[in-house]
Amino acid sequence: MNPAAALSHATQPDAAPLALVNGDVVLDEYVQSRGPWSAVVAAGDVLTIVDVEGNQAVDCLLYSANDVGTRYSAAVTIASQRSIFLTTGTVLRADSGTALMTVVDDEVGVHDTIGGACSQESNTLRYGHHTHDQHACVENFLIEGSKWGLGKPDLVSNINWFMNVPVDPDGALGIVDGLSAPGKRVALRAEMDTLVLVSNCPQINNPCNGFNPTPVRMIVTRPEASR
Ligand SMILES: [Zn+2]
Repeated sequence: MNPAAALSHATQPDAAPLALVNGDVVLDEYVQSRGPWSAVVAAGDVLTIVDVEGNQAVDCLLYSANDVGTRYSAAVTIASQRSIFLTTGTVLRADSGTALMTVVDDEVGVHDTIGGACSQESNTLRYGHHTHDQHACVENFLIEGSKWGLGKPDLVSNINWFMNVPVDPDGALGIVDGLSAPGKRVALRAEMDTLVLVSNCPQINNPCNGFNPTPVRMIVTRPEASR
């Protein structure tokens, strides 16, 4: 069942108060658990991502809507801000250094961009051959990306909103229980018309989704100043 449909209209909280940046609501959609999603966020608009039930990793790629060759670069974003973690103030940049989006508010404090996206192949390697047929983020990216003419060569290192990937002093990575909680939000302002491609991570073999993938909510607002 579509989780959005499962919620009666009467029980859905208004989108406007849930958005981290005030303005007219131009989009309000749920992404079903394990499912993909995409939309173009116009320059100046703000996308609030709501971790509705908590502990849900949201794998995300960004492209210039007018030139998908201009796409998110984890390496350039990390090098530019001299930190591996994403939070308020992070400018999400393309290879050229061009700003695609900026994190303007964040109720979690730490988001990952080095853990990558799960795939059927990586699941098999990490968790055993019996996981090969489990749906994974790379498959979501390919299904949703095909709507925009994107294929496997267009999938680059991604962002994992709400995912907790601490790095030990020796450089070891962990994918551990999330810092997020029900209703926590992060907000991204588009610096150009940006295609946002998302996989609501279906992973059930590590704690990134609390072993229970859940829906997230996408709310786009248009602040008064940019009208
Ligand atoms: Zn995943």
